[in-house]
Amino acid sequence: MAKLFYRYAAMNSGKSTQLLQIANNYETMGKAVQLYTATIDDRYGVGKITSRLNIQRDALTYDDSFDFLAQDYQGIACVLIDEAQFLTSEQAQQLHRLAHTRHVPVICFGLRSDFKGEPFPGAAWLLSLAEDIEEIKTICACGRKATMHIRVDGQGQRIKEGPQVDIGDDTRYHAVCAKCFYQGHAREDTP
Ligand SMILES: [Zn+2]
Repeated sequence: MAKLFYRYAAMNSGKSTQLLQIANNYETMGKAVQLYTATIDDRYGVGKITSRLNIQRDALTYDDSFDFLAQDYQGIACVLIDEAQFLTSEQAQQLHRLAHTRHVPVICFGLRSDFKGEPFPGAAWLLSLAEDIEEIKTICACGRKATMHIRVDGQGQRIKEGPQVDIGDDTRYHAVCAKCFYQGHAREDTP
């Protein structure tokens, strides 16, 4: 039975590394996969999925108008979606329908909340619809499990206001635990 999976985490948790590992596992078994990433994520070039371990692969891209149900998945054993927090609510529903009507497993990787602690619409829908939800664990600078993240400027100072989407390099975000999110991040005190 194909189903919809959501693997979520804070920033810089190795999501893309896990995605690329799964793609490799399928291909080692002689099965084809279809990779997607958000057009808006151009950190490493448009249409690139890049892990922090410096592995990179080309992927198809989706923007807000992309229709996942209009694509051909003939011969595809698994669909893998990176940066899934950027999906629209409609696209999250399309992927759920894709898994259950065309019998292709869909594994999404993404964030749960933004730098203000507010949900990304795509993530909220994936958390509502996915049959298999798993947290990818990462650690806050204080040693607790990180479940949120904060945005910082070029000097490392925390930014609390601004648009939900601001594609910056990975140093612009720190994964933090909820306590550090509300009470101040250990790194903010570092001179
Ligand atoms: Zn912490």
